Amino acid sequence: MKIIIVGAGISGLSLYLHLRKHLPSPPSSQPPHTITIYEAHKPRSTPAAIQDSSFAELSSSTAIVGGGLGISPNGMRVLHSLSPALHAAVTTQGFRCENFDFRSSRGWKLHKTPTSDKNVKRPDGEEVREEWCVASSRHGLWSVLMDAVVEDGGKVIYRKVVDAGVTGLGRPFVRFEDGAEEEADLIVGADGVWSAVKRGVFDAEDERFSPKYEKLAGVGGFLDMPIPEDVLHDRSMVFTFGANGFFGYSPYSPSKNRMMAWSTFETEAVPAKKGFDVEEIKQQLTERHKGWKDPVISNIINTIEIDSVYPVFTTPELPHWGENGLVLIGDAAHALQPTTGQGASQALEDAQTFSFLLTHHLKKAYSEGSDISEADAIVLSSKSLYELRRLRVKTLADRARMIDAGKMKQTIWAELLLCLFLWLVGKFQFVGK
Ligand SMILES: Cc1cc2nc3c(=O)[nH]c(=O)nc-3n(C[C@H](O)[C@H](O)[C@H](O)COP(=O)(O)OP(=O)(O)OC[C@H]3O[C@@H](n4cnc5c(N)ncnc54)[C@H](O)[C@@H]3O)c2cc1C
Repeated sequence: MKIIIVGAGISGLSLYLHLRKHLPSPPSSQPPHTITIYEAHKPRSTPAAIQDSSFAELSSSTAIVGGGLGISPNGMRVLHSLSPALHAAVTTQGFRCENFDFRSSRGWKLHKTPTSDKNVKRPDGEEVREEWCVASSRHGLWSVLMDAVVEDGGKVIYRKVVDAGVTGLGRPFVRFEDGAEEEADLIVGADGVWSAVKRGVFDAEDERFSPKYEKLAGVGGFLDMPIPEDVLHDRSMVFTFGANGFFGYSPYSPSKNRMMAWSTFETEAVPAKKGFDVEEIKQQLTERHKGWKDPVISNIINTIEIDSVYPVFTTPELPHWGENGLVLIGDAAHALQPTTGQGASQALEDAQTFSFLLTHHLKKAYSEGSDISEADAIVLSSKSLYELRRLRVKTLADRARMIDAGKMKQTIWAELLLCLFLWLVGKFQFVGK
């Protein structure tokens, strides 16, 4: 079977590794599976890289591999099942964050909640390994996955896909910038929120399927700064909410002198121009957070190098995640609000689930006397992926929408109400469930 993965981001690289680990070999009469990854952007990680990037490029989160994220316990679990060594490598280069610490810009400590999933029960009652959230640079997570792909002999070809579709004979294909086309048995769009593969699945002009701007933008970066003692002691990621925005900071590496920080704020329109003035963004940050009580925040703003600017785009709920051998995973299928802290983890879950499903159906297709073909196995797998995963992703998106309301400009009453809500969540864990 010939497989093309479009996008060497978190979902594309992890899918490659899962497929290589799990897919059954085809019968000896057929050629072995081949997997090719096409990636549009050579990775860049310098602050200068954001200056000449459009918002669409910036939203494609590995266009600029800088920026930080949290890999939630569920994401870490997927990494462990893929390879304990890979799980260890991600943990070692990152920071195992044991608590989420919610605060108000007025200096109130609202609540602290453990990130561990120790109390999460599986439906079958089976004990699960305890996992925590790991804070990491995007680049750190991406590099570990990329190294594993390269070590496996995987091929990442830097070539931009502009479109996808299905031939008259029912075979999926991708089209490149120079007009060349390539067919395969299975094409997976792991190409982020502005997915080109999605254009082969849904009408690109139809607004129901287009990325939606959430009127929020994130700014983030890394800095040399001693980690505050309470943060180091409790191994915390700190989230502070105020009337005019949000600020988060956390360690993200083994160093006691490196931090990552990010802020989210409301911007009505997505600026159309190319290029960003990093100094202007810093000035805006200073203005927005002046008067916030936590001195760590003002220290950070004075020192930070802005590495990433992310206008928040989400994918509307889609009626399916692919058909006829074209399949969407990760942000291409369901870009979530960053507030979920689940974008990377859901991408990892998609890759694992799809590879399990395809393995299951292919084993059937390859068994003697089977009445299903490879093509049937692909169609069945993409249908089941949607059925299994859709509700989980929707629940996360709905919950994030509630929290995002707290990142928009608000009246003092709305701000106090949000503080009360966050405090109550800590006091009575059932609130907000
Ligand atoms: C501000 C912000 C903060 C976030 N914070 C978190 C967090 O705390 N925790 C978390 O888990 N997630 C977070 N995320 C989300 C997370 O980064 C993404 O959800 C996750 O990376 C999705 O992975 P993906 O592989 O599906 O997409 P992407 O990472 O976007 O990868 C897509 C890949 O496809 C490539 N590509 C795009 N178009 C083409 C094309 N036409 N041809 C070929 N290649 C193409 C891109 O260059 C990229 O390499 C955050 C996102 C944002 C914007």
